[in-house]
Amino acid sequence: MQGLRRIDLHTHSDASDGTTSPGDLVRAAAQSGLDVVAITDHDTAAGWDEAVGAAREVGIELVRGMEISTKHSTAGQHGEGVHLLAYLPDPSHRGLTAVLDQILRGRDDRLPRMLARLRERDIEVSEDDVRAANPGTDVIGRPHVADALVARGVVPDRRSAFEQYLKQGRPAYVDRYAAPLTEAIDLVTAAGGVTVLAHPWGRGRGRSLPPEEIGRLAEAGLTGLEVDHQDHPPEARAALRGIARDTGLVATGSSDHHGLGKTDHELGCNTTEPDEYERLLDAAASASGASGRATPTVVRP
Ligand code: AMP
Ligand code: FE
Ligand code: FE
Ligand code: ZN
Repeated sequence: MQGLRRIDLHTHSDASDGTTSPGDLVRAAAQSGLDVVAITDHDTAAGWDEAVGAAREVGIELVRGMEISTKHSTAGQHGEGVHLLAYLPDPSHRGLTAVLDQILRGRDDRLPRMLARLRERDIEVSEDDVRAANPGTDVIGRPHVADALVARGVVPDRRSAFEQYLKQGRPAYVDRYAAPLTEAIDLVTAAGGVTVLAHPWGRGRGRSLPPEEIGRLAEAGLTGLEVDHQDHPPEARAALRGIARDTGLVATGSSDHHGLGKTDHELGCNTTEPDEYERLLDAAASASGASGRATPTVVRP
């Protein structure tokens, strides 16, 4: 019998707000004993090619994905941010690239507004300072603003930057564009990929994703739920596992590794059961076939 495969389906490189290059991320994944890793940068496929090269070099199985910034509201509620993992979509699908471009423009529009808020507090950080924090990416996020604040000695680390300035309710928090959740699910499906809700009940999230709503999303084409994630306490994991079972959704577990950018998210700290991974890949194969798109394959050693 084959030994248990270790599978981590959610990681970030410096193509978004991780701190290692896509190649180094994949090499670190192999080094840490993972058999399968997915690269899922925020709102971009920019790290894919480099990751594929590294996966072939070190002989690890690689899944190409991304984590899309979406927003969801149930009746009468203000839209809440939801992160949607998308696996194996055709990255050249017009509708998908259009939405990713719109999200990136929303990030670019937000940056000067965040910096103006900091300036009101006599903290001078320029756009160049922020972009210098990670010259390789087009996906400018709050973590890069945090890095610029660290570089200026305003705070000791990313976590304190969020606590003091950047998280919702703090002075430099500014909202930005995110795609409507069900629209994003439809687009990924049309692009031949499959979708998984990232950390659905993490960090005070989940008001817009009660169990009934997750059931509706399953009927609307969602494929999976990220159950095992560091932002989920044991009770949340148990409840989400039950929902996945009841609704037929695939249950995943992942690190959401960000390199040195997030502590307590080491590669492989949560993993996905091999059977669940196979179900995810089966769904991806069906979606690919139904879409008629040229979707990326899983890179196998
Ligand atoms: P953005 O998408 O630019 O609004 O930034 C969101 C990203 O910031 C998330 O993907 C995390 O990587 C990071 N993040 C969010 N909240 C925190 C926090 N409280 N501490 C550290 N990093 C965080
Ligand atoms: Fe992130
Ligand atoms: Fe996320
Ligand atoms: Zn993530």
